[in-house]
Amino acid sequence: MLANTLTLNDGHEIPRLGLGVWQARDDEAAKAVTHALSCGYRHIDTAAIYGNEAEVGRGLRDSDVPRDQIFVTSKVWNDRIRAGETAEAIDESLKLLGIEQLDLMLLHWPTEGRNIAWQALIEARKAGLVRSIGVSNFLPEHLDELVGETGVVPALNQIEHHPWLNQADIKLACKRHGIAVEAWSPLMQGRFAESPVIGEIAAATGRTEAQVVLRWALQQDIIVIPKSVTPSRIEENAQLFDFELDAQQVASIDAIGHEERLGPDPATFDF
Ligand code: NDP
Repeated sequence: MLANTLTLNDGHEIPRLGLGVWQARDDEAAKAVTHALSCGYRHIDTAAIYGNEAEVGRGLRDSDVPRDQIFVTSKVWNDRIRAGETAEAIDESLKLLGIEQLDLMLLHWPTEGRNIAWQALIEARKAGLVRSIGVSNFLPEHLDELVGETGVVPALNQIEHHPWLNQADIKLACKRHGIAVEAWSPLMQGRFAESPVIGEIAAATGRTEAQVVLRWALQQDIIVIPKSVTPSRIEENAQLFDFELDAQQVASIDAIGHEERLGPDPATFDF
């Protein structure tokens, strides 16, 4: 049995399932958050650059679920990292969300100034503004450098990860450092049909393709943050803890030949 939460290297628990809200706009974002909380989600993933922290905050307040039962993540955008304005970015995210503490704050991309920004996150954690601190899109060399320079290991690395991008090298580096892995675009942005094996496993298990790919990630101890603003899909994507893929099904997904990155490459990104 897979527990609903995973323990981070700082001792805090993170729900293995969260709602992603990139590209969810205005009222849509607030409604998606409130609906997700009503159907069992206890983790929301936003970012300053998504421009919807205020709506996410409204969604949190519109819900009956108490704040202390919800895990809220945001991210410091690259311009703030480069400008050495991480402390200001944290204050802004807290204000927009209307909360007093973030459960997790990430550096969004490994841009120039990341190690200084990391020190600012360490300070914010000491000050109680954030509970856990982590990174996103960090390659093994970025992780090694960050830990070597600051001595503080991130709790989590949020990376693009799905059946078309297995990220074995990053997962290994995270394991070596004791860093939890969280998958972005875990649903391949909805493009399952391009890999028929996923449909075959869905038919064999009586589950949907989305549930199959999310479960495949969960069985590797990877946290998933599928995005949806569609109520029925939000519900569907949460039904992950009452079935299991067998070793053969996992191996078939591992063996999908199609290799495709859906987002920018952290080795060459320029924004
Ligand atoms: P996902 O892989 O989560 O796919 C989302 C898309 O799939 C949407 O178009 C959604 O449509 C559709 N969808 C959702 N559920 C289903 C379903 N059950 N069946 C069919 N289609 C479905 O993509 P994202 O890129 O949004 O990644 C998830 C989250 O990861 C983001 O929202 C964000 O929080 C985070 N992220 C982080 C990044 C980073 O750099 N750290 C980069 C990119 C994303 P609809 O909403 O219309 O239902």
